Amino acid sequence: MRLLADLHTHTVASGHAYSTLAENVHVARSRGMELVAVTDHGPRVPQGAHPWYFWNLKAVPSVLDGVRILKGCEANVVPDTENGLDLPDIVLGLLDFVAVGFHPTGGFDEPDRARNTEALLRVMANPLVDQITHPGNDDEFPVDMDAVVEAAVRYNVIVELNDHSFAPTSSRAASTAREREFARVAYAAGAPISIGSDAHFALSVGRFEAALAVAEELKIVEDRIVNRNAEAVMAHLLGKRERPYLDAGGEWSWPNEEHFSHIHK
Ligand SMILES: [Zn+2]
Ligand SMILES: [Zn+2]
Repeated sequence: MRLLADLHTHTVASGHAYSTLAENVHVARSRGMELVAVTDHGPRVPQGAHPWYFWNLKAVPSVLDGVRILKGCEANVVPDTENGLDLPDIVLGLLDFVAVGFHPTGGFDEPDRARNTEALLRVMANPLVDQITHPGNDDEFPVDMDAVVEAAVRYNVIVELNDHSFAPTSSRAASTAREREFARVAYAAGAPISIGSDAHFALSVGRFEAALAVAEELKIVEDRIVNRNAEAVMAHLLGKRERPYLDAGGEWSWPNEEHFSHIHK
């Protein structure tokens, strides 16, 4: 199985990643990939990107060196904002791709399965949310797997099988069995599935070996993996909701000044 899109990559804008967006795209191109989503961390993680960073992704072309770029985010699930995420809906609505996940310092550091599940289900019901990242991180952020998978099916939210979670150096290394189990249950339930690199350095973009081995073990067929190619990614995203900026030509248009006056804070 060869996947031609990566829906989980970080750049220097995340504060603890070490390559630029252009470097990530360059590596993706050298590997023959068709699409990369740039999903930098939201503002709640230390040195995460400011809302302005996400708002101004319009400065980035939608196609670079023949690789389609989805301007996205990995927003943090947080307990104390209007939408339960650390980026407001007005910013999320400008993005091509919205991934969400739990991260340390986000306000859910005390493991509490019921509280985490409630918070995650709430953001999954938000039509702007496209993907949940590393959901099997049971050691740090336990959730009720069946309830989350059911919500993924109901709201057409992608369940990620995160390659980096299987690296021995990962902070999630203690939860690999659960990450695998999440993929198995999500697959059986018919939820959309992705395999993401979670690259924090350019050379990791499009590297999925560990997660692919798990997918193979679980007999997950390629047709069920959203990021198998750019066409499948675009079809999924446009089937979920209308996206004013997700055009094939790479041009952004801007609705009006009033729209972004809300995020100047
Ligand atoms: Zn993450
Ligand atoms: Zn990430």
